[in-house]
Amino acid sequence: MKVKYDDLNAKKILITGATRGIGKALALSLAEQGAHVIFNYREGKEDAANSLRDELKAAGATEATGILFDITNTPQMKEALDKFVSENGPITGVVNNAGISKDQIVLRMKEEDVSQTIDTNLKGAIMLTQSLSRSFLKAEDVSVVNISSVVGLMGNPSQIAYSASKAGLIGFTKSYAKELASRNIRCNAVCPGFIQTDMTDALNDKAKELYMSQIPLNRFGDCQEVANLVSFLLSKASSYITGEVIKIDGGIYI
Ligand code: NDP
Repeated sequence: MKVKYDDLNAKKILITGATRGIGKALALSLAEQGAHVIFNYREGKEDAANSLRDELKAAGATEATGILFDITNTPQMKEALDKFVSENGPITGVVNNAGISKDQIVLRMKEEDVSQTIDTNLKGAIMLTQSLSRSFLKAEDVSVVNISSVVGLMGNPSQIAYSASKAGLIGFTKSYAKELASRNIRCNAVCPGFIQTDMTDALNDKAKELYMSQIPLNRFGDCQEVANLVSFLLSKASSYITGEVIKIDGGIYI
C-alpha cells in the first residue's frame, strides 16, 4: 500500500546508496510522489546511474539527478553537493542510506574492515549532513532520515563494527535533532530489521532460518515497507516528529 504526500511533489530529496536495495525502492517511491530525486553513484557506475535516472523519470520524478561521489571521500562529496546546491537551490530532504556490512567474529575482525564500516555507515552520513547544513538554514521543511538498524539497538554476534556504526547513527540523529530543531530542521532514525535485499541475500540458509525464527511476523520485510515509513518522515505529515528512532522489524525487537 502506498500513501501520497502532496508536499513531496518537486521536493529536492537526496538518497545515498540508491543504486540497489532499500535505497532504490525508496528512490522509486519518491519518484512516484513526484519528487526531484537526487542520488549518488560511484566511479565506474555511470551506466547504472544513467539507467536509474531514466527509471526515476519514467516513474514520475519531477527531475532525477545523479551526482558522482563516494560517501567516504569527503572532499569529493562536499564539492559535488556544493555545486548542486549553488545551481539548484537547497536540498530539503536527505536519506542517509548508503551502508555496508563486513561480518566477522571479534577474534577475526580486521582493522581495515572496522574503519571502512564506520567511515561508510557513520562518518559518511555525518559529513554529508554537515556539508548540507548551511544550506538547510535558508530552506524550509528540512527533514533528514538516517537509516540505522535494529542491531544498533540490540547488538548482533559477528556484527560488532556494523552494530556500533548503526548505534552511532542514533546518537548523531538525536544530537542533530536537538541542535537544529530551533531552525525547524528535523532528523529521525529508522531501524529496519531484516529486509529482503542483496545485504540479506548474502546470509547463508542457516542464518536466514535462525533470524526468521525470531521474527514474530515470520517473514523478512520488503523494501517498499521501509520506503513507506521514510516517505512519511520526509513529508510534512510527520512535522512534529524529530529525534525519534523508529523500528520497522516485524517485531524482532519485542
Ligand atoms: P545494499 O547492499 O543492497 O546497497 C547498499 C547501497 O549503498 C548501494 O547502493 C551501494 O552503492 C551504496 N554504498 C555503499 N558504500 C558506499 C560508498 N562508500 N559511497 C557511496 N555509496 C555506497 O544495502 P541495503 O539496501 O540492504 O541497505 C541499505 C541501508 O539499510 C544500509 O545502511 C543498511 O545498513 C541498512 N539496513 C539494511 C537492512 C537489511 O535487512 N537489508 C536491515 C537494517 C538496516 P554501490 O552500488 O556503488 O555499491
